[in-house]
Amino acid sequence: MEKNTQNRLNNTISILGDLVAFSVLGGESNLSIAEYISTTLQNNNIDYHQVFNSSEDKVSIHCRIGPEVDGGIILSGHMDVVPTKGQQWSKPDFKLTQEDHKLYARGTSDMKGFLACCLAMVPHLKESKLKKPIYLAFSYDEEVGCLASEQLVSSIKSAYKEQPSFAVIGEPSLMQTVNGEKGAAFFKTTVYSSAAHSSEVRKSISAIEEATYLIQWLLGKMDDFIEQQDFDNRFDPPYSTIHVGTINGGSAVNIIADQCEFAWDVRNIPSDCIQEILDCFERFCEKKTAEKQEKVPNFKIKTSKQFSIVPSLDTSENSEIVRMVNSFNGNESTSAVSFASEAGFFSKAGFETVVCGPGSMDQGHRADEFIETNELKKCLSFLERLSDWAKTGNEANMNYEKI
Ligand SMILES: [Zn+2]
Repeated sequence: MEKNTQNRLNNTISILGDLVAFSVLGGESNLSIAEYISTTLQNNNIDYHQVFNSSEDKVSIHCRIGPEVDGGIILSGHMDVVPTKGQQWSKPDFKLTQEDHKLYARGTSDMKGFLACCLAMVPHLKESKLKKPIYLAFSYDEEVGCLASEQLVSSIKSAYKEQPSFAVIGEPSLMQTVNGEKGAAFFKTTVYSSAAHSSEVRKSISAIEEATYLIQWLLGKMDDFIEQQDFDNRFDPPYSTIHVGTINGGSAVNIIADQCEFAWDVRNIPSDCIQEILDCFERFCEKKTAEKQEKVPNFKIKTSKQFSIVPSLDTSENSEIVRMVNSFNGNESTSAVSFASEAGFFSKAGFETVVCGPGSMDQGHRADEFIETNELKKCLSFLERLSDWAKTGNEANMNYEKI
């Protein structure tokens, strides 16, 4: 390995060690890790933007490296990680351990490995005479529903005079080009009724019983997708899914429940619309409510959205970003994944977007999460190719293979 490349890899591993030591979970204040990243940018004389939440204990960061011209590329990742509590770790969870070409700690794959590669490239990008800008964008609270994404994307759109064209979200994909993702939305439905003694079961209406009918409706809706062969075979499973994750209700075995609440999610293939599924469910709930109010006037069903709907990702095989990322990595094809990420928000905002990052989701969120050193090496060489592209400018008929 060239000395420069080895130095950059060592530097990346050292930055990764720093990043994993910030045990910032989704939902928690991320000011500590954000300050570390801001300091790196400051040390390289790069101006950056901060996008705070309303209580100012969480912040996203974005910056431009290179000229104020259209057509640049955004590299984006999230700073938060999922908890390790309750998992059986044989290695320290928030301290980097290197063993046999593997680097262990929470977040190494998802997705501080990518962040470390980006930060290690900053001095090189800053020194290079870029003709196209490269933007870095780091968010918080991705793991609890992509809470910062919408605000981050709209801040990027308004902060710069020029408009970036592309976005690469560095979620772990073993550096494969992911151009399709299911969308996701999370809901909570509460059924309100009137309590009574359980001996009078037909005089009142059990909120639990009604909740079970609503759940059956949702599961039936998923069966309809399967029956109608509403499939997109890039995904596994190839249809939109609906799943009920929690249910709570009732106070005692001999009391007719006056309240029951369940949380459910929809993960849609790009051709299905979450809002339509929700509207259809709401119509069923309205019909039920009208019927039940004849017996129990205060009977009510309320469904609320938990966080924003995470849009699906469906970037064309023929798009420029797919061609670029494939050629930078020597990939010949694309793939799709069934989980949602921030990529959908970038795509919805008009940037040609793919997911491509080091490490594997097989390791993310699990005990003894790790990333292979080779994945970091692959990501660094991807970023080097990308900076070569930015140095030459994005000529219309450029032959990427020749870079
Ligand atoms: Zn992630």
